[in-house]
Amino acid sequence: MSDVFCKIIAGDIPSAKIYEDDEVLAILDISQTTHGHALVMPKAHYGSMLECPEELLGKVMNVAKKLGNAAKKALGADGVNILANCGESAGQTVPHFHVHVIPRYEGKEDGLVLEFKPQDTSAIDFKALAAKLAEGLD
Ligand code: AMP
Repeated sequence: MSDVFCKIIAGDIPSAKIYEDDEVLAILDISQTTHGHALVMPKAHYGSMLECPEELLGKVMNVAKKLGNAAKKALGADGVNILANCGESAGQTVPHFHVHVIPRYEGKEDGLVLEFKPQDTSAIDFKALAAKLAEGLD
């Protein structure tokens, strides 16, 4: 694979490294959607979170959690959005699994707009929908 994060992991492209161990790398996101916006990724290539093995996923998420707390402690963030885009339709632009750790600052406008708009649910059978999804669980 030769996506931009594989190149960063290989040392072919520079990055602002925050944390690294044998399996996980955390860097600053070049876009800095908010102050301190960081990315955590496995060094091994997986196209998205959905393909990442459970144990490694746990390690990546643990670093994301630590970085979220670091953003509060070191940067004075009031909250943090931790999210992973999986697939182009979900906004993923780099096809190498990564978790965004996005510090949020109360009362400060920033580049992140996250809105969960309630939809008309009158035609939805919630029990049937939940059961259908449950059928898809491995
Ligand atoms: P996504 O849209 O979830 O795939 O996020 C990809 C992120 O990677 C975007 O927020 C980009 O700003 C970020 N990005 C792309 N290239 C680089 C790079 N060379 N160094 C750091 N972050 C990058």
